[in-house]
This record gives sequence, C-alpha cells and structure tokens, in this order.
Amino acid sequence: MALYRLIYVSQAVSGLEYPDLVEILDKSERNNRKVGITGMLGFGDSMFLQVLEGSRRVVSQTYNRILLDKRHVNAELIDFSEIECRDFGVWSMKVVQLGNQVEVRDLVLKYSSSDTFSPIAMTGKQSLHFLRELTELYQRGAMSNN
Ligand code: FAD
Repeated sequence: MALYRLIYVSQAVSGLEYPDLVEILDKSERNNRKVGITGMLGFGDSMFLQVLEGSRRVVSQTYNRILLDKRHVNAELIDFSEIECRDFGVWSMKVVQLGNQVEVRDLVLKYSSSDTFSPIAMTGKQSLHFLRELTELYQRGAMSNN
C-alpha cells in the first residue's frame, strides 16, 4: 500500500501546559499504533510541528480529527507527499519539547531566519530536514526526555 507523509504546523492555545502534552502523547501513541501511523510532534515557543506517516486513508482521518482539537488553532498544512519509506518509523508518536539547549537553538537557526522556533515560515523540505535532525539530536541524548 502506498505510504504518505503529512506535515503541518499549528499554534497551541494559551494555557496549554506540560500535562496537556502528556495527554496528547498518550492518546496519539495509542490511536496511531492501532492504525499504523508513525511520526513526531515538535513543540516550542507555543508552536506545534507534526509529521504523520502511514496510509493515505489513516493519515487523512487522523489529521482531520486533529484539526478539530481545541488545544491548538491556526493549523496550516506544510506538506502532503507520497513517500518510499518512513523516516520516523520507530515512534507511533513522540512529543519532543524544544528547550533552550544550544544544540536545539542552533538547529532552529539552521532552518530559520532567527533562533525562535517559527515552523510556519519553513518550507516542506526545511520542516522535514528539521524534524529528521531533531530526531537525531533526541536519540543522541542531547535533549531531555519528554
Ligand atoms: P477522545 O479522547 O474521546 O476525545 C473526544 C474529543 O474530545 C476529541 O474531539 C478531542 O479533540 C477532544 N478532547 C479530548 N481531550 C481533550 C482535552 N483535554 N482538551 C480539549 N479537547 C479534548 N491524536 C491522534 O490520534 N494521533 C495524533 O498523532 C495526534 N496528534 C495530535 C497533535 C496535536 C498538536 C493535538 C493538539 C492533538 C493531537 N491528537 C492526536 C489528539 C486528537 O486531536 C484527538 O484528541 C484524539 O485523536 C481523539 O481521540 P479519541 O477519538 O480517542 O477521542
């Protein structure tokens, strides 16, 4: 079956706190595992950047459900493409919270005009490279677990 990747950006509503992220992660891991979705959710400076991978049908269904969630607003689709293989296959979902670590700020700056995390300004390619490198940073242990 063809595989698809969807990347979008959205803005967290004010008052969203760490327990909300934990709840989103728990629910996402459980739901995504059932339908074969893998991906990653970056969160920083009140912005979400998420990648979802899976069949076209389940990626579309999941994205449509996510859009209804009142914990974020102003979602914008950055990329929806057919892919050969998964880049984030190790995780049914992983929330990575972007902190002020030098490595993270350097990575943000590499793909942005400043070191403020503003994924809305990224192209599809930039956001994908950013998420891939963020995954590597996380797996190397350069960031704390969330
Ligand atoms: P339930 O958990 O029973 O939820 C029913 C409804 O209540 C949904 O409309 C839900 O949006 C809403 N809801 C639930 N809890 C809260 C809350 N604390 N505050 C406000 N509204 C709430 N889900 C996935 O399955 N996979 C993902 O990858 C994924 N990524 C997400 C990324 C972001 C940035 C956000 C904000 C949410 C994400 N979610 C994801 C959660 C998704 O939006 C739905 O909440 C979830 O999929 C609904 O699961 P459910 O059908 O079991 O319904």
